[in-house]
Amino acid sequence: MKAVHKSAFISSVCPKRRTMLHSHLTRPKKLRLFALALSFLLLATSLGGCASASGNRPDFSSESDLPVFGDGTESISEEDKPDERPMVAMTFDDGPHNVRTKQIVDELNKYGYHATFFVVGNRVDGTAYSGGEAMVYAIEAGNEIGIHGYTHEIYYDECTDREYHQELSLTAQAIRERYHAYPINLMRPVGGKITKDRANECSYSVIKWDVDSEDWKYKYQAGDSDEVCADKVNTIVENVLSSVREGSIILMHDIYESTYDATVIILKRLNEMGYNVVTVSELLGDDLAPGTIYHSGY
Ligand SMILES: [Zn+2]
Repeated sequence: MKAVHKSAFISSVCPKRRTMLHSHLTRPKKLRLFALALSFLLLATSLGGCASASGNRPDFSSESDLPVFGDGTESISEEDKPDERPMVAMTFDDGPHNVRTKQIVDELNKYGYHATFFVVGNRVDGTAYSGGEAMVYAIEAGNEIGIHGYTHEIYYDECTDREYHQELSLTAQAIRERYHAYPINLMRPVGGKITKDRANECSYSVIKWDVDSEDWKYKYQAGDSDEVCADKVNTIVENVLSSVREGSIILMHDIYESTYDATVIILKRLNEMGYNVVTVSELLGDDLAPGTIYHSGY
């Protein structure tokens, strides 16, 4: 079951993995081509770096310039060209959730998109959410994990120092107990609330948002008719699409069914609008620094 799912994922979803699969199937031919390429590379190097200066030889000065050897006909793969689409970051708080988080990751995979999940420490393991496995699933699909809080009951603009540090350190511990040595760079305060001093002294980057889906207001309730559910989803979608722009950080919550339903539509629309959906770290890039609050990448 798992293998079937994975191969379906590889062939239908992720172009990079598709190439990897293809390359595995044609290994003998590839090895020969690779050996040929290596010889050529050594020759180019032995010429003292004059390959590009000669004007008619390829420049192998950086790894990204190396050709990809598929069927031997292409020189530079489409995948190695820089993605110049405008970027937005989708962020999901309050998980990980054993069902919703996985569904959202699967939906992101359809477009080769990635998101950032700010997790609640005591939801990684040990609660009804049982989100530990889903968190690992998200990481392994290339998504990013940041800290939200451990209990989700403590606000960082009014708690004691001891409570504040405990919320962060216990969450980091919960993440790393599930995924050893995971590099944590980001923190989103619960409710977006944190004192300036704590934000300035924080060893993580403090990530807020500029686009609020307000999805938590529109979660399905027992007894909602199909029409009411559709209205709720449309409202979440509209909240995002009416204000998204290049560099936006979008706030959502990966624990509600209505959020998942809205995410399906939002991702499709963002794709049609030409956006690349990336993690917060990818969006902010070199601008990212600890002890700094970010609302967007613009
Ligand atoms: Zn929250």
